[in-house]
Amino acid sequence: MNLTGLFGGTFNPIHLGHLKVAEEVISRLPLDRILFIPSYIPPHKSPGEVVPVRHRLKMVEIACQGYPAFQVSEVEARRPGPSYSIETLRKLKQAFPADRFFFIVGLDAFLEIDTWKDHTQLLQECSFIVVSRPGFEIELSEKVIEKIRPAHLIILEPGPSLQPEDLPAGGLILLPAETPDISSTDIRKRLRTGQPITGLVPPGVENYIIKHRLYH
Ligand code: ATP
Ligand code: MG
Repeated sequence: MNLTGLFGGTFNPIHLGHLKVAEEVISRLPLDRILFIPSYIPPHKSPGEVVPVRHRLKMVEIACQGYPAFQVSEVEARRPGPSYSIETLRKLKQAFPADRFFFIVGLDAFLEIDTWKDHTQLLQECSFIVVSRPGFEIELSEKVIEKIRPAHLIILEPGPSLQPEDLPAGGLILLPAETPDISSTDIRKRLRTGQPITGLVPPGVENYIIKHRLYH
């Protein structure tokens, strides 16, 4: 049995904020691996700005080099049309019947959970790990927690990492973390206006963006 984190996103492009989220999660929780899942068509974004999924997959792959527990999944990339998390979860459950799954999301994304397709079922069928983000501190989750009323709630304060048996099924784990104030939106804007992105993405990703003239 694997405890598997599912980290979905547009990753347009992947940056050091994403990597820090995954590093924090893997160091504080007993997950065996994290699957990065680039979405095919992002439901809420203007399609023009999103580079083809093959580029986003490749950049995620480059960024995950050197992290044995970080893997790229093409489960959403291979399926044309919008990808709903509930469908992704069910597909992965079929592919890996012995795994237990945990969705990993930044708090900005989690605040919109009640707009996700079948979110009530989704919250019952797996657990969520919610990571803070600059401007989105853990306290902001209060209202949405009142709404969704999770079966279990853990706020993971600094300290020893959790044991597998402590991980609730159908629960919500809040993880206050110091992640850098980086967004893909800002990186795209910098590239459009000729500003440097060094230190915001891994060097291999920066080289890939330059080589393929992405986001110009
Ligand atoms: P965009 O600006 O295009 O929305 P983004 O930087 O928000 O890009 P996404 O691909 O939308 O990146 O995010 C994927 C997931 O990573 C989301 O759950 C988001 O909340 C989380 N995330 C992204 N950047 C950070 C960060 N700096 N700190 C914490 N979480 C983050
Ligand atoms: Mg985003």
